[in-house]
Amino acid sequence: MELWYTEQQTDEVRFSIKVKQHLYTGKSEFQDVDVFESEEFGKFLTLDGLMMVTEKDEFIYHDMITHVAMATNPNIKKVLVIGGGDGGTVRELTRYSHIEKIDMVEIDKLVVDVSREYLPITASKLDDPRVNLYFEDGIRFVADTKEIYDLILVDSTDPIGPGEGLFTTEFYQNCFNILSDNGILVNQSESPYYDQFSHEMKRAHKKIKNIFPISKVYQFHMPTYPSGHWLFGFASKKLDPIKDVDFDKWNALGIKTKYYNPQLHVGCFALPSYVQEMLDNE
Ligand code: SAM
Repeated sequence: MELWYTEQQTDEVRFSIKVKQHLYTGKSEFQDVDVFESEEFGKFLTLDGLMMVTEKDEFIYHDMITHVAMATNPNIKKVLVIGGGDGGTVRELTRYSHIEKIDMVEIDKLVVDVSREYLPITASKLDDPRVNLYFEDGIRFVADTKEIYDLILVDSTDPIGPGEGLFTTEFYQNCFNILSDNGILVNQSESPYYDQFSHEMKRAHKKIKNIFPISKVYQFHMPTYPSGHWLFGFASKKLDPIKDVDFDKWNALGIKTKYYNPQLHVGCFALPSYVQEMLDNE
C-alpha cells in the first residue's frame, strides 16, 4: 500500500509527498514532532503536521537565512539564533572562522534531539565549540539577556503556537535593543502568495519598519513550503544589504555555497510587483 504525507497548507490546498517510512513520531510539551523518509526529498521533519526541513531542499533556506547578512557585514562576531532546532542555520554560520560565538535558543529540546538522530548532516555542527545551546523561550531570552549581538537570525515556526510571540512588536524591539551599531536582524517572514501567510508577512514587516532604520524583504524559492515562494525580512541599524555589501571580501573567504551567490544576493531583493505593492500599501 502506498504511504503519503499530506499537509493542509491552506483551507483549500493540500500538498503531498510519497513516503517510504514514517521513521519517528513523538510529542513534546510544545508540539508534535515527526520524521518521514521519502524518495524525492530524503528524510524530512514536521512539527504539528507542518513541513520544517527536508534533506533535499534545506540548503536553500539555510543559505539564504545566513549568507545575505554575513556578506553584508564581514565583521560579525557574535550571533544569536532563535529557534532553528534542526541545526542547519548553525551549520552555515560555523563556516565563518571569524565568528566567535553562536548562541542558539530553541524552545523545544526534542526537535534538537530528533534532528541529531535523523538529520545528522543538518545538525552536524551543533557541537562546534563556539555554539551554546539554550533550551528556553526566545521571547524571554531577548528580553532578559545582557549580551550584545552583531546578528540575530529568527529561524522560527509560523506565528501559531510557541512561535506566535516571535512576530510581535515587543520581540522586534528587544532584538533592536540587543544588537550592536552595525547589527542585523533576519527573520522568517512567511509567504506572500496565499492570503493567510501574506497577512502575517505584511504585519510583521510593518512592525519591523517602525523600529529599524533599514527594513527590507528578500525572496527565495522553497519547494516544500506553501506556494514554494518564501521571504525573509532583513532589518538593520545602519547597513544596507545592497549599498554596503563588499563581495570581494565575501569571495575571499572561499565559502562554497549551493544556492547563495553575489548575483543572487542583489537579485533576491528585487520583488515581484504584487509583493512590492503589498509592502508599500501597508
Ligand atoms: N525552517 C523552518 C520553517 O520556516 O518552517 C523553521 C525550522 S526550526 C525547526 C523552527 C524552530 O523554532 C522549532 O524547532 C521550534 O521549536 C522553534 N521555536 C518556535 N517558537 C520558539 C520560541 N518562542 N523560542 C525559541 N524557539 C522557538
